[in-house]
Formats: sequence, C-alpha cells, structure tokens
Amino acid sequence: MSYFPRAGFCTLYVPRMLRSQKEGECACEFEQFSQVDPKRQCVVYCCGGTMLDVNKIRADFPILSRTVHGKPLAYLDNAATSQKPESVIRAMDDYYRRYNANVHRGVHALAEEATAAYEDARRKVSRFLHAASPREVVFVRNTTEAINLVALSWGRANVSAGDVVVLTMMEHHSNLVPWQLLAQATGARLEFIGLDPAGRLLLEDLDRLLIEFGGRIRLVGVSGMSNVLGTVNPVAEIAARAHQAGALCLVDGAQSVPHLPVDVPALGCDFLAFSGHKMLGPTGIGVLWARQELLNTMPPFMGGGEMIKSVHLRESEWADIPHKFEAGTPNVAHGIGLGAAVDYLTGLGMENVHAHEQALVAYALERLAQVPNLHIYGPPAGERGGIVTFNVMRDGELLIHPHDLASILDMEGIAIRAGHHCAQPLTEYYGVPATARASFYLYNTEEEVDRLVEALHKAQRVFGLE
Ligand code: PMP
Repeated sequence: MSYFPRAGFCTLYVPRMLRSQKEGECACEFEQFSQVDPKRQCVVYCCGGTMLDVNKIRADFPILSRTVHGKPLAYLDNAATSQKPESVIRAMDDYYRRYNANVHRGVHALAEEATAAYEDARRKVSRFLHAASPREVVFVRNTTEAINLVALSWGRANVSAGDVVVLTMMEHHSNLVPWQLLAQATGARLEFIGLDPAGRLLLEDLDRLLIEFGGRIRLVGVSGMSNVLGTVNPVAEIAARAHQAGALCLVDGAQSVPHLPVDVPALGCDFLAFSGHKMLGPTGIGVLWARQELLNTMPPFMGGGEMIKSVHLRESEWADIPHKFEAGTPNVAHGIGLGAAVDYLTGLGMENVHAHEQALVAYALERLAQVPNLHIYGPPAGERGGIVTFNVMRDGELLIHPHDLASILDMEGIAIRAGHHCAQPLTEYYGVPATARASFYLYNTEEEVDRLVEALHKAQRVFGLE
C-alpha cells in the first residue's frame, strides 16, 4: 500500500466525522488506502483515486509557463476567470480555420459541420450537468445574462406586486441587480437570508421568511458557492424548502459548476446559471439550464432571427426550446470552445478536480493562519471551495489596503484579486471597503500557496509590520 504525501482529500470530509475516526480510518470511498493525518485532521492520504497529475495538467495550459515581472506566474485569480488549455484554444482555432459558417440555417457542408459541432457542445454540457435533455441547455453570454433571462422572462410573467423574491447576503451583483430591477418594475419585494460570523447561510432566516410570507414567495435565488467566502451552500436543502412553500429555486452556479460535480436532478433546483470562462472555456459563452416544462412556459427573452418558427408582419411564432431563447447569430466558436472545456474537465473527473482543490485550500488555510495580522473570511476547510479571502488588519483596522497588497503580490508574479468582488453588500456587512482574494483551480500547486505566504510576509515587511 503506498500513500502520496498530502495527496488527496476525503471527498466526504465532515469535521465531525473525522473527529470520531481513529487514525487509519477514513470516510471516503477509497477507505482501504486512506489514512487520517494525525496532525491535520481534515487531510487524508488517498490511493490516487482522486489524484490529479498537476504537472501534466499545467503543461496543457500555455499561459502558465509565462513570467510576470521576471517571476513565474502564479495565477490565483480563478474566481474571476480561469486559464484555457491548449485543447480549448485549438477547438476554436480549428472552427475558424476549417469550418467557419453560421449555424442552423445553412445547407452547405461548412454550415452543417458548424451546426453539428455547436449542437454537440450543447450535448456535452447537458451530459456534464446530468440534464434530461440538451433542450434544457440554453446558451447565453454568461451567468449574468442567464439570470437576467430568468428575471425578465419568467419574472415578468410570474412575479407581481406584493410577491417576494428571497436572496442571500452573499450574492454576486449578477444575482441581485436583476431582481432589484424586477422588484422596481413589478412592486415585488426582496428579502434576504443572512450569514453567521463564519460566512454560512442562516437557514433559519429562510424558514422564518417562508412562514412570514407563505405562498407570496415566488423564487429563492442562491449562489452554489460564494465567490468571496468560498462557502459551499446547501442548495438541495434550500431548493427543497423553497418547493415546499410553492417557490422556485435559482442557483447561481458561476463558482460551483466549474469546481464541484454537478447533477441537476440531485440539486433539485429549477434554474442553474453559469459561465464558460470560469471553467476553462472562453469568455462570451454561458449557460442557463432549466427543466423543459419550465422553459416551455416562459416567453422569449429577446426577439430576432434564430428564435422564431415563422414571422408575419404583426405576429410571430416562436422556435422550440432552447432556440426560443437564443435570438441572433450565436457565439459559435465559443460554444465549441466550451464543449472542449467540458471534455477536458470530464476527462479529469469533477470529483478529482474538487478533491484537489479541497486539499489545496486546506493547505492554504493552514499556512495562512501562520501569517501575522491576517484576517481570513469564510468557513473552515471542508465547507468551502478553493477560495480564500483575507485582509491584513489588526483590531478591525486595515493595515494594508487590499489593492496595495495585490500590487505587491503582482511584483512577485502572483495574480490575486482585490476589491468588493461584485458582492458589495457582503463587504459592507464585514465593515471593510475591500478584501484580497486568492482563488485556486485544478492547475494550482502547494508551491504557489507557499509563494503567496512568502509574498504576504514580504508585503508586511514593506509596510514595517514584521
Ligand atoms: N455569480 C458569481 C458567484 C460570480 O462569481 C460571478 C463572476 N465573478 C458571476 C455571478 C458573474 O459571472 P459573469 O461575469 O461571467 O456573468
């Protein structure tokens, strides 16, 4: 039996379970090869069933071999956008070089090849989500457009004055502003699920709202994973409670779909929105998934070519789903690129991607805890994805502004994000103007975490704090 040093992470990690386990036992499916690390309860050594060969993966991403300010790039801004493997770049290049044509209407060879590749990408996404049919996959520009589609199409038809849309305090602006616009247009009201100090949703708030507003709640919208705190939200639980009250559930999957195995029937939500560019695909392509029955009841979002069956001067008949929601020439090249990204992720296995990130974030949290003056937001490892948001502060006072921190790290070749991360109500809740965020993906390494830690020490020396 051989163990990889710090090789894997128990995919069923629950701190309570591990605490009750003895050394040598593990709750994960590779139990015969697993061992609880006696020093760090959360990390297990697994047999390789959840392993990624990170060096091999890194070689697939051309950008990762570049330098920044003379230092090797450590790209830790994956929550903003991910890097692209050669296969994704090649798929798009191939389309433009060999079979560039408009899709769906042409009868010539190029148009048929382009249509086949574009619709094949839709099938890949559908399988990736375990959806019932590719007809449930609507291609849009990004998560933002997917949520706006729901708010404008479903929302205008189903939400009226006095109705309630429930969101959470940790939502990205993309899952907040479209609902504000809907509320302003219809007279509906917005209510919010709060957070505990560790950044977990207070589900009792949802229960209270469900009692208070009863059948007036039309939709509960929640992010699958917070882009600031990394909190992985109990979406299936929230969807079940929403349904009991007769409401629908929308999941903003911008951060969860790229990093966690997704199974839409198991999630039980009604809408799932996500972006291709955060999951190794190109920008300008995203997905709205919804059940066919629901999509069939929804009016079009935009009008024009592609979304019609027939057009007359005063009225038109809509195309079937998903085309009813895809007006105009679609982003063919990037749809094909997203298909290649899904192939890449599927080839690695999303369980493995998740396990790698869980191990990395556990390591990062442990190392960052040793950096003086570092306040880390969000829940413990095991309850969060590969996102660590922090500030250098003492007694509630910022000692280094996150933008200065990000600039100093940039000089070390380390790319992190500073700001409100498009979740301004959350930064307001924590009483700071901004935070610094490191976010990981399948190609990041412990060595990059070590460089981040070293650079944070250096930043503190620059500011005379160490
Ligand atoms: N929701 C969440 C949780 C996000 O992290 C992001 C991107 N930062 C979005 C929505 C918006 O994604 P996009 O800009 O691709 O529409």
